[in-house]
Amino acid sequence: MSDLQPPRGTHDLLPEDQRRHRHITETVLRIAGLYGYEEISTPIFEATDVFRRTLGETSDIVTKEMYVFEDKKGRSLALRPEGTAGVARAFVSHLRSKPLPLKLFYQGPMFRYERMQKGRQRQFHQFGIELLGVPEPLGDVEVITMAAHILEALGVADKVTLEINTLGDPDTRQAYRDILVAFLKGHRDGLSKDSQDRLDRNPLRIFDSKDAGDQEILKDAPKLTGHLTPASQDFFDTVKGGLLAAGVNYTLNPGLVRGLDYYCHTAFEFTTETLGAQGAVLAGGRYDGLIEAMGGPSTPGTGWAAGVERLALMIAEPPGPARPVAVVPIGEAAEAEALSLVQRLRQAGFPVDLGFAGNLKKRLDKANKANAVAAVILGQDELEKQAATVRDMETGEQTEIKLSALEDHLARYR
Ligand code: ATP
Ligand code: MG
Repeated sequence: MSDLQPPRGTHDLLPEDQRRHRHITETVLRIAGLYGYEEISTPIFEATDVFRRTLGETSDIVTKEMYVFEDKKGRSLALRPEGTAGVARAFVSHLRSKPLPLKLFYQGPMFRYERMQKGRQRQFHQFGIELLGVPEPLGDVEVITMAAHILEALGVADKVTLEINTLGDPDTRQAYRDILVAFLKGHRDGLSKDSQDRLDRNPLRIFDSKDAGDQEILKDAPKLTGHLTPASQDFFDTVKGGLLAAGVNYTLNPGLVRGLDYYCHTAFEFTTETLGAQGAVLAGGRYDGLIEAMGGPSTPGTGWAAGVERLALMIAEPPGPARPVAVVPIGEAAEAEALSLVQRLRQAGFPVDLGFAGNLKKRLDKANKANAVAAVILGQDELEKQAATVRDMETGEQTEIKLSALEDHLARYR
C-alpha cells in the first residue's frame, strides 16, 4: 500500500502543514474580532442551484469546475466551490430579519475540479468575510482595510499589491457593454472560442479570460472607467479617499473586471509575484444584486475571500507547539505515582509528555526527541523522599525537588 495517495488535487495536511493553516485562521479570527465579524459555517454541499444562481450558468466554476452529484433521492447537490453563495443562502434562510449590517466571517474547504499546479488544488481552503446591508462606499473601505490588516499580521504585506477597480452601477455597465461589444465585434476572429461565446452572453466576462490572445485584444479595448456615471465616479472617489485616509496603498487596474451581473462598484485583488502563475491571494468586491438574485430581499453586500494554501506558501514558519515537561518514572511503583503526577501537572497547565516504556537512558532520549524543556525523574529513592529529580534538558543540571513544590519549580519553564 506504499503508493496509496490521497485523490488527485487533494492533500493531507500533516501536522507541520496544519500548523501553518491554523496560524493563518487564528490570525484571521483575531483580527476579524477587532472589526466585529462573527464566524458562520454553512454546509460543505448545497443544492446545485444555489451556486448556479449566484455564480451564473456561464461561469467557469459552474460549467467546468464544480463537483456535482446526485444523492439517493435524485437531488442535484454540489460540493461548494466558494463561500459567498452558501452565506447568501443562509442569510435568506435565517438571517433576513436580523438588524443590519451583518458582519460575517467564514473559513473551510472548497472544491473545484481544476488543473493542478502549485497553489492550485481541487480541495483547497478559503477564509472570507461578507458585510451585508451597507450600501455606502465606507463598507468597501472597511473590508479592504481589514484584508490589508490581516495580510500585514501574517507578515506578507511586503509581498502583495492591492489592485482596485470599479465596475460602476447598472447604468454604467449597460452603456459600457454596448461600447465594449462594438469594439470586440471588430476583433471577433482573434478571440478564443470561449470568449466568442461570451461576446453574446456576457461580454464583460471576457476580461476574466486567461487566454493570451484575448488579453492582447483587451489591451486596446475601451475601459469601463472611462464611462462611469457621475454617481459611480463619486462612489469610487470616496473608496479611494477612504483607503488613503486608512493608510492602505493601492494601484488602479482598469482590467480587473468581474463578469457577473450582480457585481458593481468596487472590485479588488491582492496579488503576489512570489507564487508563479497563481498571483491572486485575496479577491473580492461589491455584490449589491446577489441576495436578490438568490430570491431574498434587496440587500447590498461587499466582501472577499482568500486562499489559505497560497498564504501558507508565503508566511514565515509559525511558532511550534509549546515544549513539554517529560515525566520519567523508573519502576512499577513510580509508574503508578507518575500517572497521578502527570494529570496534576496538566491540570496546572503544563504540557506533559509521559515516557511509556524503556530504561532511564531510553526515556531521556525520547524526552529529548519530544523537545522537552525538563525531565521529571521519579525513581524508588525519590519516591521514598516524596521528591523527584528535575533535569534541565538544556544544561543537564539536576535538582531534587519535593513533589509538593514541583509546579513552583517548573514555572520557570513556562
Ligand atoms: P484564480 O484566478 O487563481 O483561478 P479565482 O479568481 O478562481 O482565482 P476566487 O474565486 O476569487 O479565485 O477565490 C479567492 C481566492 O481563493 C484566490 O485568490 C486564491 O487565493 C484562492 N483559490 C482559488 N482557487 C484555488 C485553487 N484551486 N486552489 C487553491 N487556492 C485557490
Ligand atoms: Mg479560478
